[in-house]
Amino acid sequence: MNVLAIGCHPDDLEIGCGGTLALYAKNCHDVFMCHVANGDKGHAVIMPDELGKIRTAEAESSGATLGAKKVFNINVPDLFVDSHIEEQVNDVVEVIMTVRPDIIITHSPDDYMRDHVETSKLVFNASFSSSIPHYDTKAKPYPKIAPLYYMDTLAGVGFLPEEYTDITDTLEIKLKALEKHETQLKWMRDHDGIDFLDFVRTVSKFRGLQSGVKYAEGFRLYKGWPRIITKRLLP
Ligand SMILES: [Zn+2]
Repeated sequence: MNVLAIGCHPDDLEIGCGGTLALYAKNCHDVFMCHVANGDKGHAVIMPDELGKIRTAEAESSGATLGAKKVFNINVPDLFVDSHIEEQVNDVVEVIMTVRPDIIITHSPDDYMRDHVETSKLVFNASFSSSIPHYDTKAKPYPKIAPLYYMDTLAGVGFLPEEYTDITDTLEIKLKALEKHETQLKWMRDHDGIDFLDFVRTVSKFRGLQSGVKYAEGFRLYKGWPRIITKRLLP
């Protein structure tokens, strides 16, 4: 399968579905990652222009750790992700047309901040528009409207998973990938007083407790025609 995960900021996919992406890669599926925002405002000292470049490099290195074939960057400045801006929709449509995914993973539409919520809507819209033959982009339309999975919210708040993946074997890869986002581990420590590796391990352990394994990630399938499936696509 071609697996496409589209997150908001450069580290969001590692947090929400990094263990699952590593599992897909281990099982010889082709994994593609995409971040919509460039992460340029996630720091108190490093200025946005410089930070955007550093975080793009961190995301590439993290993607390689998880086994992704490519990491796409839509390059929207932090806090300006907007599902009604045509250019942003077009860019996501082009990524979908290029990857031609069998499954798409993104944020839950009720996650904790606007960029995440808008990314969720953007992916929902774009993954329909990408099937339209006369949608005007450089890439070739992709007739399939892929099943769409929502990953866990930050800290799992308000999110009741319907499917779980056992990431016991890939938790360390997930955390190693997250460690590549050095600026963010420091930012979370300085700005929010949070040990982010411990934070992410804790949520994985909690989802594992719910599903009878050591570590897990939780997902919900978007249920609307024609995205309903009869077999499990998650690993
Ligand atoms: Zn984020």
